[in-house]
Amino acid sequence: MATNPSAKFGTMRGRPPEEAKFFWTGGPIEVAPRTWFASQFSGCVAFETDDGLVLVDTGTKQFAPALAAMLRQKTQAPVHTAIYTHGHIDHAYGLDRFLIPGQKKPRVIAHSAMPARFQRYHDTARHNAALNARQFGGTVEAQSADAYAAFGQPPIPPDTLYDDRLNITVGGEEFELHHCKGETDDHTWVWSPSRRVLCPGDLFIWAVPNDGNPQKVQRFAWERAKGLREMAAKKPNALCPGHGGPVAGDEAKIARMLTETADFLDTVVSRTVAAMNNGSPPHVDIVTGIDLPKSDSPWLQPVYDDTEFLVRNVIRYYGGWWSGRPSELKPAPRAVLAREIAALAGGAAKLAERAEAIASNGDFRLACHLADFALEAAPSDAAVQARVAAIYDRRADTETSLMTINIFNSASAYAKAGKPFA
Ligand SMILES: [Zn+2]
Repeated sequence: MATNPSAKFGTMRGRPPEEAKFFWTGGPIEVAPRTWFASQFSGCVAFETDDGLVLVDTGTKQFAPALAAMLRQKTQAPVHTAIYTHGHIDHAYGLDRFLIPGQKKPRVIAHSAMPARFQRYHDTARHNAALNARQFGGTVEAQSADAYAAFGQPPIPPDTLYDDRLNITVGGEEFELHHCKGETDDHTWVWSPSRRVLCPGDLFIWAVPNDGNPQKVQRFAWERAKGLREMAAKKPNALCPGHGGPVAGDEAKIARMLTETADFLDTVVSRTVAAMNNGSPPHVDIVTGIDLPKSDSPWLQPVYDDTEFLVRNVIRYYGGWWSGRPSELKPAPRAVLAREIAALAGGAAKLAERAEAIASNGDFRLACHLADFALEAAPSDAAVQARVAAIYDRRADTETSLMTINIFNSASAYAKAGKPFA
């Protein structure tokens, strides 16, 4: 993911500046006395104490040198304690770049679920590379060797693990660490009671929360909502998010940002559970039938994840993998089905043609089913490849969330290569 950041930023062209908050880059900003925030795609926070720095998050391997250079404009104190808010590669992989030459190895704290995450990355490195290639708009074949190497242990793994709650004292000051599932099962939010600074990690990202990601393991929107309310109850005076810019000196705004996001998530979850309780229809029927909440607030725009995908993760948590369609319990191979449908339609070219016509009327959901069948029925037909790629290119242009845009861009790249996802 860190291998091709331009893919991320490219998707924000033409969007209102407030939406670009998710991609905010800047700093160092002093959010409280002796407390600095900086962000290069992902954020990090340095609390300077009399015994050295408490550092919350460390960026990606790629951006850590720039992040560290920003913070080092303000403080040369050694890192006493580092806290990884979660084990994603844009938070836990840059610590080595923040250390002062010759300094003692810092204590590194994380939630107890984090080592299992690193093991999973190691065990599924090529799978992960494929998922991230798609999430960022390409094909796995086009990934560099770095993309595989990116997954596994971070350069400095955590040495101190905790379960639910941990209070630490550094330089005579207390810092609270709270576990909260949300985007991941290993998330920590950090609260400094004396400076009133909140570091939520990716539990707050200036966008519809990343609790739906279609390719990743289970996420926990309802747990995040609970955690956001606990954070709001602390009445923070500064918010230093995992992605996007900081807010400092505006308690009312921070409270609104946290509670509105919690309300948004609770609405998605309760509507999904209600739909499931209404006879447990097939998953697609729940997803396409639900009334999704929308917000005008700049911190609740679907610029990264897609609200529809949050519904999917709620369904997955409460049920099994079966879609609910009888034919999909033990389905035919897709290529066989695609060839049969193409034969009925008069050939893959006919299917692609019909897909184009439907797309031209704006119904990309329907058009792409036919486009997939066309490509799967005739993957080496150059004309079909081009038509299908063009439909996905056009569809990507109609979407707002990075994940949706890039998966459709990836579908186009695969189509051009004559390789349906299937
Ligand atoms: Zn992140």
